Amino acid sequence: MPRANDPAGLARVKAIALRVITAARAAPKGYGDPSLPPPAAWEIAIIKDDSPNAFAMPGGKIGFNSGMFRLTPTDEDIAVIIGHEVAHVVCRHGNERVSQGIAAAVGAVAVDQSTRDQSAEKRKQAMAAYGAAATLGVILPFSRSHESEADQLGIVYMALAGYNPAQSVTFWQRFSKEPGARMPEFLSTHPSDQTRIQKLQQLLPMAQKIYAEQQAKAPTR
Ligand SMILES: [Zn+2]
Repeated sequence: MPRANDPAGLARVKAIALRVITAARAAPKGYGDPSLPPPAAWEIAIIKDDSPNAFAMPGGKIGFNSGMFRLTPTDEDIAVIIGHEVAHVVCRHGNERVSQGIAAAVGAVAVDQSTRDQSAEKRKQAMAAYGAAATLGVILPFSRSHESEADQLGIVYMALAGYNPAQSVTFWQRFSKEPGARMPEFLSTHPSDQTRIQKLQQLLPMAQKIYAEQQAKAPTR
């Protein structure tokens, strides 16, 4: 992926990401993951790409598209994104998606086997039907729950890192109005923006409590 030449943007994303990663490593049991790579080990890059996307990968890599900056006027906005992406890594959603992919492939072999005495046309139809079912029935619902889990953990991380979690609602509202704004892992699995924002609003009091406690201990601004 081509890197953008944006030292100021990179410094900004890095500073925020390091705080969020530190929070995710130190978060209470059940929320955080002390086995995440330490902040200094993460490789963070601004990707030269106009689409507003971001990703994090296990092993400590974060990519933040240059096109994301137009949707992130405040540091809190960036913390929402980094919190969400780091939460995917903590929950090992990438691995689960790989296992889902394997399960879908195994299912495809089963369909192929069970229809081997039928005509080529029938086999083709059965395969197409299986592909649609695998996508809609198995892979999408899991991914929706992943998104929701990442949103939930993400606001905890941002609160612990000293960023006001209330900004998550503002950010996703702005993001939902941007045509074509989809993080790669969303693709068609994106939960409806309305559902996502409603869920975040329900979770906000919990995250705000964490934020208030964090600010009482070590005010960040
Ligand atoms: Zn996500």
